[in-house]
Amino acid sequence: MGQVVRIAIQKSGRLSEKSLEIIKNCGIKFGSDSRVLKEEASNFPLEFLYVRDDDIPSYVRDGVADIGIVGRNEFDEQAIDLEVIRDLGFAKCRLSIAVPNDFSYQGLASLEGKRIATSYPHILEGILSEKGIKATFVQVSGSVEVTPAIGLADVICDLVSTGATLAMNGLREVEKIYTSTAVMIGRKKMGNDEKAAILSRLLLRIDAVMRAASYKYVIFNLPEEHLDQVAGIVGGMKSPTVTRLMEKGWLSVQTVVAEDLFWDVFEQLKALGAQGILVTPIEKMTE
Ligand code: ATP
Ligand code: ZN
Repeated sequence: MGQVVRIAIQKSGRLSEKSLEIIKNCGIKFGSDSRVLKEEASNFPLEFLYVRDDDIPSYVRDGVADIGIVGRNEFDEQAIDLEVIRDLGFAKCRLSIAVPNDFSYQGLASLEGKRIATSYPHILEGILSEKGIKATFVQVSGSVEVTPAIGLADVICDLVSTGATLAMNGLREVEKIYTSTAVMIGRKKMGNDEKAAILSRLLLRIDAVMRAASYKYVIFNLPEEHLDQVAGIVGGMKSPTVTRLMEKGWLSVQTVVAEDLFWDVFEQLKALGAQGILVTPIEKMTE
C-alpha cells in the first residue's frame, strides 16, 4: 500500500465549502459527504478528515493529519509550532475592536484598564502589549457581541466580516487590529519522502487553480492601427495572440489579464476603440 496524505478540513462551517471546492478544482474526486469522519479520494492519494476547525492545528501537530485548512486567526491564536504552507485567500475576515455606541473611543489607548471580551486573547494581548496597554481579557467562545449589554465586558474584540451583527447589538467597529484568511498549515519539510512528493503534487495543482482564479481570459476586436498600444496595456502572460478578422483593418486579440487590473484594462481598451470585449474565467493556469 502506498502512502496517503491526510488533510484535516472543517466538518461544517464557514471554511468547509471553499476548502472542498479548491480540492475539487484540482481534479481530485471524492464524495464530500461531510457527515462521515473520514474518506479517501478515488483518484489521488489524499484522505480527508472532517473535524471542528479548533482541533485542526493540534491534529496536524500530533500527526493525526499531515496538513489542514484553518483560519489564520485560529492558527495564530493557538500559537502551534507549524508552518503556513499556502495562503488560500478565502474566508477573509478581520479581528476588530468594537465598542458600545456611547463609548468615547480615542484609539487603542482608550482600552487601558478595560474589560475586553474576546475569543482571541492571545492575538489581542500580543497587539496591546506591543503598545504598552494593559487590559483585562474576558475569554468567551461565542456570542462575544452580547457581553457589553449584559455587563460582562466594556468592549469586545471579535471577528467581523460585514458589521451587521455588531450594529444589531448596539456596537460600532472602531479599529481593525488583524486580518485573516484561510491557510493551509503543516510542515514544509515532511518526515516521509513519499508523502512529501504527494504534497508537492497537490500544491502544484492548488497553485494552478489559485492562479487561474486571479486572472481572466479576454478576447476583443481592435482597429489594426492600435495594436502597438495594446501590448503595453494588456501585458499578458507572454504576448497577446493576434489574428486577422475578415473585415479589413480589424484584428482579434486574445490575452490573459489579472483580475484586479481588469477594469483599468477594460477602460483603456475601450478608449483605443476595442469592440466586442469578451471576458471568460480560466479554469486552470500554470506559469
Ligand atoms: P466549528 O464548529 O468547526 O468549531 P466555528 O463556529 O468555530 O466552527 P466558523 O464560524 O465556521 O467556526 O468560522 C470558521 C472560520 O471562518 C473562522 O475561524 C474565520 O477564520 C473564518 N471567518 C470568516 N468570516 C467570519 C465571520 N464573519 N465570523 C467568524 N469567522 C469568520
Ligand atoms: Zn470552531
